[in-house]
Amino acid sequence: MDLLLKGGVLHDPENGWEGPAEVLIRGNKIEAVSLSLGPVDVPFWDLQGKIILPGLVDMHVHLREPGNEGKETIATGCAAAVAGGVTSIACMPNTDPPADNKEIICYIKERAKRADLAKVYPIGAITRGIKGKEIAPMWEMAQEGAKGFSDDGNPVSDSGVMLRAMQYALNLGLPVISHCEDLSLAAGGVVHAGNHGYRLGLPVISPASEAVMVARDLLLQKEIKGKLHLAHLSARESVELLRWAKGAGISVSAEATPHHLLLTEEAVGNFKTEAKMNPPLRTSADREALQRALKEGFIGVIATDHAPHRLQEKEDDFLSAPFGVIGLETAFPLLWTKMVEEGLLTVSELVDRFSSAPARLLDIPAGSLKPGAPADIVVVDPQAEQVVSGERFFSRSRNTPFEGWRLKGYPVMTMVDGDIKMWQGKVKGFSEDFPEIKSILQTRR
Ligand SMILES: [Zn+2]
Ligand SMILES: [Zn+2]
Repeated sequence: MDLLLKGGVLHDPENGWEGPAEVLIRGNKIEAVSLSLGPVDVPFWDLQGKIILPGLVDMHVHLREPGNEGKETIATGCAAAVAGGVTSIACMPNTDPPADNKEIICYIKERAKRADLAKVYPIGAITRGIKGKEIAPMWEMAQEGAKGFSDDGNPVSDSGVMLRAMQYALNLGLPVISHCEDLSLAAGGVVHAGNHGYRLGLPVISPASEAVMVARDLLLQKEIKGKLHLAHLSARESVELLRWAKGAGISVSAEATPHHLLLTEEAVGNFKTEAKMNPPLRTSADREALQRALKEGFIGVIATDHAPHRLQEKEDDFLSAPFGVIGLETAFPLLWTKMVEEGLLTVSELVDRFSSAPARLLDIPAGSLKPGAPADIVVVDPQAEQVVSGERFFSRSRNTPFEGWRLKGYPVMTMVDGDIKMWQGKVKGFSEDFPEIKSILQTRR
């Protein structure tokens, strides 16, 4: 659509913009960004008091389709994404059957196209069946549009297999996303090896189970020099290894999730399964190490690891309940309220970590509103305050540890390719009363 956004403040670090701006959208692209564009013959939207950002990019999402549509579908996951201001997502291949071949990659893209909400970039499996043994047909998945490779959910335990996979991925110019976990150390554990877990008498997961794999992957990367990305880091030891890698000239990228950035093992409380995740929530020292690394850029990406599970499964006892929490609809207001407003991160740093940096890493057209870029935009109302309530989620699942938190900085409009997908909490195709776009706009300048 043709539209002028005026009166808002734009944060687009990639484009070097931080301040008041008018943004002109023509069709599906950004046509111009300027302090004042003068008279323009298109409808406009007055964004006084609002913030304009490039659409968020979440490079770590579990959509569950095919195979577990009771937890999430590609359509409901994409609805949750645009509700949270996320315009591009990369989805992990541990579906059923797994995305370890070009047919499933093609299927996911087809379903995402039909949902017509967020852009979906599939990640292909590293190994067949995500079993860690035989390398999956990476080339044909790349031809079909896979944007990276991961066995997420599982580590690639065999170092030789991982080395070869990194070599192939390098030849394809794509990243390998590593779920860092040494199963011989972590297997059977359900919480962090800390005071809280020991008090509950639960089997524990030590920080070493993550850091050992981080160290291995960094040493492999030293030889291969490909694109290595470390998923959902949780332990301060892992951050120390990233510092070492930088000194040793090893290039690597890494991500942290909102829950590891904001919660500690205490969130598990009295066996609360909503706080059961892998890697587990750790201590405040770990959390602060992650926050500092995010600020300094050692951890350059925020991703949600959105992992939907059925209520009945999460209501199971702590040992049998599945790992994981959802995050698409809470990530931005959480980070806004608990990091930006607390002075731990600037708005531009948040946009870089949650939009520009993952877009660069996946090499996708997103993360900036420079002229010519796709009109993938999120408008945030920094004053909009709301209590997190799973009942309002578009996700099919409700497993959040943030239920009841009062947050600010909610997205109020999400646009993908110039089309408004979310408006004031309503999602196109999902909310009966999603408004006619004409009724939103003004036409006199
Ligand atoms: Zn993982
Ligand atoms: Zn994951």
